[in-house]
Amino acid sequence: MAIEDKKVVERRMAELLKTGAAMLAQKCPVEGCYLPLFKLKTGEVICPEHGRVYIVKSDEEAKEVASRALMLKVLEDLEGRVIEALSTLPQHSIDEGYRDVIGWLEVLERIMRIRRELFSEERKSKAS
Ligand SMILES: [Zn+2]
Repeated sequence: MAIEDKKVVERRMAELLKTGAAMLAQKCPVEGCYLPLFKLKTGEVICPEHGRVYIVKSDEEAKEVASRALMLKVLEDLEGRVIEALSTLPQHSIDEGYRDVIGWLEVLERIMRIRRELFSEERKSKAS
């Protein structure tokens, strides 16, 4: 880690402690990262460098978390593309090609629905 980055991380750790986060004995699970994890008042566990991390108890759980993260990444990417496509459509093609626009909007709607479902599943699994 560069000295500059180290300073940023140290500052972040100090800020976390100031906001009442608890430093855990566990280290960040990201490979090559040996920073201690912090538990926020909200219960979320974060690494000062990598942000939110998941502590898993089994390989099965690790796979599930990884596939969910991948899914979210794909969705985010798709969402960005749809928004870009919509915003760069020339005015005349919006007027002429409503069908394309509607198609894109449908994709966007599905993305948002899947996201919502993923997040509500996450909340449910946390509550249990
Ligand atoms: Zn980390």
